[in-house]
Amino acid sequence: MNNPFDNALNQLARANAVKPFPADLIERLKHPNREIHISIPVTMDDGSLCVFEGYRVEHNNARGPYKGGIRFHLQTDIHEVKALALWMTMKCSVVGIPMGGGKGGVTVDPKMLSKGELERLSRGWMRALADVLGPRKDVPAPDVNTTPEIMAWMADEFGKITGDTSGAVITGKPLGQGGSEGRGTATAQGGFYVFDALREQLGLPISCRVVVQGFGNAGDHAADLWTKAGHRVIAVSDSKGAIVSDTTLDIDAVTAHKKATGSVVGMSGTRTITNDELLALECDILIPAALENQIRADNVGSIRAKSVMELANGPTTPEADDALFARGISVIPDILFNAGGVTVSTFEWEQNLKGEHWTEEQVFGKLKEIMEREALEIFETAQTLKTDLRRAAFVVALGRLQEAMQYS
Ligand code: NAD
Repeated sequence: MNNPFDNALNQLARANAVKPFPADLIERLKHPNREIHISIPVTMDDGSLCVFEGYRVEHNNARGPYKGGIRFHLQTDIHEVKALALWMTMKCSVVGIPMGGGKGGVTVDPKMLSKGELERLSRGWMRALADVLGPRKDVPAPDVNTTPEIMAWMADEFGKITGDTSGAVITGKPLGQGGSEGRGTATAQGGFYVFDALREQLGLPISCRVVVQGFGNAGDHAADLWTKAGHRVIAVSDSKGAIVSDTTLDIDAVTAHKKATGSVVGMSGTRTITNDELLALECDILIPAALENQIRADNVGSIRAKSVMELANGPTTPEADDALFARGISVIPDILFNAGGVTVSTFEWEQNLKGEHWTEEQVFGKLKEIMEREALEIFETAQTLKTDLRRAAFVVALGRLQEAMQYS
């Protein structure tokens, strides 16, 4: 299996090869500033004790406080969290927000926990890390399997420990607890603005056939947004399998089916296929919105999309990147395409610090401006350097990090 941190380091080296940066800068970025391992003891409902492994990696804070989500997943380990933290440093730099990169996680299958156990685990994660987190130091957010409710428990725990009840320590909170308008759909919305800004340059039709892998927070909103904009979502999936339609999926009906049954699989009027078969469907846009390492050397040959747009973090390995580029299949990289989430998270942090509440119109207006501007800048950088969009995005990010780190 590909180690995601090795992939992230590989991407850094490959970008540096097309536009060399000072060796000291690259060397520093290869090492997270701090890796924290924690043990979280949780009293289970039956009275027994379970100790969970948790992590916070603070990769780089040259451009602002560490920023990055918390993942609850059985596959989560320190290598994954380190990779995600490095990507956060690059992502925040790509969109020019005043944040550094960090990431957190717990090795757990949250579906096996009761609500009470999940709350005790979430509060335990925050208790163990409250001394390193803070609005001016390190600001977490949701990621895979973590929700606005979990963010609210964590913000509450931080307030009880430190007395800081501004909520600015964590983003992705529910609206009533200081959350921002638009945060729920921000990741997909940001991706949509990037797609819209680059569609013509990438040679994509006005109405695209879209395939979405993963139907969680990022993926279901993407399916909904592309549908509302007049595109045809033909297949979606989740961890239990994938469904495909001969015409177009009714995304509202898929969402209702998932809510009722726990999965997209079994939706009437669709065929069930595997996630591997979903990746190989012929389409205009393939949107991976699940986990890392989905498009690899061993399956990249089966990809029949015209463009891969990475809503997930790290879904394409470096070897697969090269194979896609050679075949003229564009890849809009995660550090640009899914940066809408952290951008609106940063808006939430700013609103909490200022005691403001912005309208959805204000939030999406600012988001659109940022995503379109950076998409065009990265596209032009790729043209100038005659390289792919991932290397170009890293180059843009590295240029800003170089400026931020020159006196440190
Ligand atoms: P989520 O937990 O809400 O959803 C994940 C989805 O992926 C679920 O539908 C799950 O069933 C599905 N899934 C899991 N394993 C799968 C597999 N092997 N094949 C197909 N589907 C699978 O998580 P999310 O917040 O939507 O995050 C998804 C991806 O997007 C992650 O890579 C995350 O880091 C990235 N991302 C999320 C945000 C955000 O704001 N939520 C922001 C930036 C990036």
